[in-house]
Amino acid sequence: MNLEHYIGGAHVPSVSGATFSALEPASNETYLTVAAGGPEDIAAAVAAARKAFTDGPWPRMTGEQRATVLRRIAAAIESRDDRIAALECRDTGLPITQARGQAHRAAHNFRFFADVITTLGEDVYRVASAQLNYVLRKPVGVAGLITPWNTPFMLETWKLAPALAAGCPAVLKPAEWSPASAGLLPEIMEEAGLPTGVFNLVHGIGEEAGAALVEHPDVPVISFTGETGTGQIIMRTAAANLKTLSMELGGKSPLIVFDDADLDRALDAAVFGVFSLNGERCTASSRVLVQDTVYESFVERLAERASRVRVGAPDDPATELGALVHPEHYERVMDYVRIGVEEGARLVAGGSRPSDLPVGNFLSATVFADVTPNMRIFQEEIFGPVVCVTPFSTEGEALELANATRYGLAAYLWTNDLRRTHRLARSVEAGMLWVNSQNVRDLRTPFGGVKASGLGREGGRHSIDVYTESHIVHLATEDMPIPRFGAA
Ligand code: NAD
Repeated sequence: MNLEHYIGGAHVPSVSGATFSALEPASNETYLTVAAGGPEDIAAAVAAARKAFTDGPWPRMTGEQRATVLRRIAAAIESRDDRIAALECRDTGLPITQARGQAHRAAHNFRFFADVITTLGEDVYRVASAQLNYVLRKPVGVAGLITPWNTPFMLETWKLAPALAAGCPAVLKPAEWSPASAGLLPEIMEEAGLPTGVFNLVHGIGEEAGAALVEHPDVPVISFTGETGTGQIIMRTAAANLKTLSMELGGKSPLIVFDDADLDRALDAAVFGVFSLNGERCTASSRVLVQDTVYESFVERLAERASRVRVGAPDDPATELGALVHPEHYERVMDYVRIGVEEGARLVAGGSRPSDLPVGNFLSATVFADVTPNMRIFQEEIFGPVVCVTPFSTEGEALELANATRYGLAAYLWTNDLRRTHRLARSVEAGMLWVNSQNVRDLRTPFGGVKASGLGREGGRHSIDVYTESHIVHLATEDMPIPRFGAA
């Protein structure tokens, strides 16, 4: 199977003819050859998108007209959900049941932003009776969308849907480790009747195709999801053209368990929060902080549950934890396991490849107890099925530990004390907090992080803000006094 770029409505190879290979994580065999884009391919895609912006119908359509197409895109995704899930499962190593959930969410992204754009009003400010100020929301121009390899199809559509809803043509650069499912987007967009040039796709290596997209002067907005370090490089590059940036970056999210909580549910949430999606999840609850009064028993139960998480072939419906995306990433995660042991953390579950899975990037669900904040495994994002557990005694200590990393994406709190909940909700350094809940997303709510976890918010109207300029018009409805300089 070969994958090409999709530029101005045509499937094309790279101008240079360059390609790269994609591996299947369950076997690490090459199964896909992909066009490797460079600056020329990005230039062609941006030119096609720019033409769709300046001359095409899309930015000029009403929200309702665009919403009709977005709903057809959602239907086209749904009609292919098995294919999308199967591709994603093979390409990323995600368990098939979880890949299916991601395909449904992708369709939901389009349907949701169709609703947002049809219900979105523009603000009006009346200044006494003399002036009316109203806001025109205008699509900002060509949107550059750069996405990571975890849950690729869902995250690509999480950016595409609001960009298109806002009227922006887009150039998407998917992650090089998981390019397959994006290859279905051209036929989906065509089937839905999206005008030519509004959706463009350029595959390639981040430092080449991604960097060229960030550098391009005709791309005024970049929405990026990926590692914090990459986000920093992108910000530096984007400064030359003062681009609008939306940055969804890494995380090391705490799950705080007080002894008054429903400990059974907290345990379920802790296990699911870090081992679902192979632990390759930005909002993973990868640090579990437990009150000392229940610490030992919680660790014991967590270790026991982790040891029973079913690791296996991604396409087996019984699998709970599949194969990590790439051998390089697998080595990185395995290095952290070695580092954790060397740092003196207590390995209470996992830590090695299951003996019945000799090839592919498989790691048993891994739990380290007695992890202290000075350890690298406490501080650094591992992005795999590895969780660190740390005891605390007081609320103050829990807060200090929760905030003791450079990240601030999500946090999870388990307690039945209402006042404590409000106190911690105000002081936990995280863009999002879930209380007595797992990570349930409502697409209307702001999504994003603080500190090294990101910049800006997406979700609902926040996403539309990323892709629109607010243009204010001041209109006199009566004669306003005008100071008459030079008239005396
Ligand atoms: P990554 O930063 O390596 O790559 C992300 C994308 O950026 C890829 O498409 C890559 O090709 C591209 N890229 C790399 N270098 C670039 C450059 N110099 N210029 C432009 N583009 C470049 O991230 P990853 O390893 O693919 O994804 C995992 C990371 O993503 C984790 O840190 C995870 O926490 C984060 N993530 C965050 C969220 C969130 O919403 N906050 C969601 C999912 C993943």
